[in-house]
Amino acid sequence: MMHQGTHFLQIPGPSPVPADVLAATGRQVIDHRGPEFGELGSKLLRDIKKIFKTQHDVVIFPASGTGAWEAALANLFSPGDRIATFETGHFASLWSRMAIKLGLKPTTLGTNWRAGADPAVIEDALRQDRNHEIRAVCIVHNETSTGSTSRLADIRAAIDAANHPALFVVDTISGLASADLRMDEWGIDVVVSGSQKGLMLPPGLSFNAVGPKALEASKAGGMPRSYWDWSEMIAINKSGYFPYTPATNLLFGLSLVLDKLLDEGLEAVFARHERLAEATRRAVQAWGLENLCNSPIHYSPVLTTVMMPEGHSADAYRRIALEKFNMSLGSGLSKVADKVFRIGHLGNINELTLAGTLAGCEMSLDLAGVPHQRGGVDVAMKYLAETA
Ligand SMILES: *Cc1c(COP(=O)(O)O)cnc(C)c1O
Repeated sequence: MMHQGTHFLQIPGPSPVPADVLAATGRQVIDHRGPEFGELGSKLLRDIKKIFKTQHDVVIFPASGTGAWEAALANLFSPGDRIATFETGHFASLWSRMAIKLGLKPTTLGTNWRAGADPAVIEDALRQDRNHEIRAVCIVHNETSTGSTSRLADIRAAIDAANHPALFVVDTISGLASADLRMDEWGIDVVVSGSQKGLMLPPGLSFNAVGPKALEASKAGGMPRSYWDWSEMIAINKSGYFPYTPATNLLFGLSLVLDKLLDEGLEAVFARHERLAEATRRAVQAWGLENLCNSPIHYSPVLTTVMMPEGHSADAYRRIALEKFNMSLGSGLSKVADKVFRIGHLGNINELTLAGTLAGCEMSLDLAGVPHQRGGVDVAMKYLAETA
């Protein structure tokens, strides 16, 4: 069916790209060895550090987030190395699966698809690892499949309390520039991220922010690697250039996105996300539906995952939202397929985008015959007006 007006891309990434950013990526390509590129590269390699709240190097790969995961594992570990994960959802489990494919030995310390990673469980496991075989604790910051955000400062404290030398490696592919992240303050050794979620860019860029302890580990070991190797990248980045052709046009977009985020101010960006997330949760509660995340300290500022009442298909519901209202909602992944839908409220979003999104959700509940109470949009609007 042909739709007029704007498609509402309300999945938790890729998220809609602002029109000026999209236009910036449509500029003519330039010589990536020329002087204009050197200036661009130097500027964005400097400014991107502020988004990670780090003084250390941020490596940019022309790849989706999964590529940056592989880069982190390949630079840090050798086959046979043990790493520890906490299964907060589908993405955390994919990370373990990748580790196995690369010959590592991941241990899942705990599983909870309804909350963030539990620091007490991590501390306990690290205390029991007396020979310090666990090389790293790998945590998904914002679990995009469930809508739970792990408390990284508490996990850092757990690692310290166990007095364990494990590296702290964090995937914030869907959290960056939406949920607060303080790489240096929280002692994170490697942060993995991507372009197409909170950063409001098209898919195709990903990041490794690399702390000194991680850099040491990569120099001493890691797997055979070439394309993903940090050392050559970091060396050439010093002058603003890349060892191979970068995704030049996405970098034009990144440069503008960094200006926009730093102009708004990161704390204001986080507050905007928290407020829109709270409005969404109030709507869900007013509908009489349940949030998959059942731990308020772990509620995600990025997305809200709604559980479908028994006997109702989340995918049939999402199909109605798409066909009738031209809105894409996120599907349930693996264990929760067809049982939940996900509302993305990240990136280039404001009150009215959210109100439209929630209106589309509420009308679709009606059309899909999902038992609910009306008035969720009203409750969200009331909250947004009160806090305006
Ligand atoms: C999106 C996402 C990924 C996968 O990233 P791709 O860009 O699709 O490769 C991994 N982890 C999390 C937490 C994500 O949100």
